[in-house]
Amino acid sequence: MEKTNWIGGRPTGSPIFEPNVNPAKLDEVIGHYAWATVEQAAEALAAAREALPGWAASNPQTRSDILRRVGDELHARAEELGALLTREEGKTLREGIGEIRRSAQIFHYASGEPLRNGGECLPGLRDGTTTMVTREPVGVVSLITPWNFPMAVPAWKTAYALAFGNTVVLKPSETTPGCAWELADILHRAGLPAGVFNLVMGDGRTLGPVLVDGADAVSFTGSPPVGRAILERTVARMTKVQLELGGKNPLVVLDDADLDLAADIALQGAFHSAGQRCTATSRIIATRRIHDAFVERLVAKVRAMRVGDPLDARTDMGPVVNQPQLDKDLRYIAIAREEGAELACGGQRLDANGYFLEPTLFIGTDNDMRINRDEVFGPVASVIAVDDLEHAIAIANDSEHALSSGVVTQGLVAAETFRRRSRAGLVMVNAPTAGIDYHVPFGGRSPSGYGGREQGSAAVEFFTEGKTAYINHGVTA
Ligand code: NAD
Repeated sequence: MEKTNWIGGRPTGSPIFEPNVNPAKLDEVIGHYAWATVEQAAEALAAAREALPGWAASNPQTRSDILRRVGDELHARAEELGALLTREEGKTLREGIGEIRRSAQIFHYASGEPLRNGGECLPGLRDGTTTMVTREPVGVVSLITPWNFPMAVPAWKTAYALAFGNTVVLKPSETTPGCAWELADILHRAGLPAGVFNLVMGDGRTLGPVLVDGADAVSFTGSPPVGRAILERTVARMTKVQLELGGKNPLVVLDDADLDLAADIALQGAFHSAGQRCTATSRIIATRRIHDAFVERLVAKVRAMRVGDPLDARTDMGPVVNQPQLDKDLRYIAIAREEGAELACGGQRLDANGYFLEPTLFIGTDNDMRINRDEVFGPVASVIAVDDLEHAIAIANDSEHALSSGVVTQGLVAAETFRRRSRAGLVMVNAPTAGIDYHVPFGGRSPSGYGGREQGSAAVEFFTEGKTAYINHGVTA
């Protein structure tokens, strides 16, 4: 099955089609996807530019209706598209279906934004004047997305970009183009005018520079090095940019924690979706008094995880996404052992026709080890023992990342102290570091995030520009 790009409202082929392979069954090709050329990326930007005035001026009800229809179709097809997501990315079917449902909810929520996009009207400070503050679309936006949430990240960028009247060129990850293709197909059938949304699939290093240089704004989610390269390019042109990057997220477990709850939270945060979430727990910081009892509970739960075919309802963890990611996970497992970390469980690749790795937990680690500094982005976590809350906060904040953090405690004072002093953009109390709501702002502090938060009430900041108007109408009565 060949899947084309979408440029100017038309399916557009390419000289190159690449296979999309199931990471759980390496002989299963899901489809062949067109890799756009640089010229086609430029055509997509031109189509978005041409469509911009019409879409920016379109009736808010029209935009709202289209976005709602997209959400309706995603919801109706959640099981089918969830299975596609699982086959191309490797997360479990339950997680795959959940991600499609979440994407539907995002479109439904964003469908209200065209109607909510008000402004402010204030009395002018000169007699007979009024000031108005309104918001306008930024223009043509390039959206560049990663493989780990192949539907949700394209959904949360696209839905808000379109809601506020921008036109879009989406470049999904070359590893998981299938969900983005389905989204493009749904958007077109939902009634979007030609050129308002364009899809170009393929190699980021080739297409990235064109997409960054030709847009009025760039919203990127992905790895820190690529984010930094995009930032440098946009700075030179003073282009608006938003970056959502990596994490090295700490979960603190304090003396007074409910240890069964703490073990469940750590397990969920570290190993669901095979640890391939930017918000995944990777540093588990436990106070010495409960350290051994907590680790015992956690190790038992990790050992009980079923790793296997993600389409099987009994599976807890599927494969990692591809060979480079598996190699990286195994490399960091070796580095941790060389640095003196103690392997509590896991660590081995499974002998199967896919990229399966045991969920892996290290203990006896300290925060200077590379396993605790670098983002691994796999089912690999480590435990660091600390003295008390103060020590835990210092270790949690001692990181080059500041995306998500969590604390497990029954103490209100400890929870509030951690909430205030954590440097992360997201703080979880008695909840996993991963797993977010769609109606509230999401993102990390620099260098995990840059250029403003995404979703909820924050989305308007990035996807619109403010305009302050001074109107001298002369009416004073
Ligand atoms: P990646 O940086 O390799 O790729 C992301 C996207 O950038 C892909 O579409 C890729 O083709 C494109 N790209 C590659 N080189 C480019 C270039 N030079 N210019 C422009 N685009 C280019 O990341 P990945 O491996 O797909 O995803 C994993 C990373 O994403 C992890 O670091 C993870 O933490 C991060 N992530 C962050 C969040 C968040 O919200 N903070 C969410 C999900 C994933």
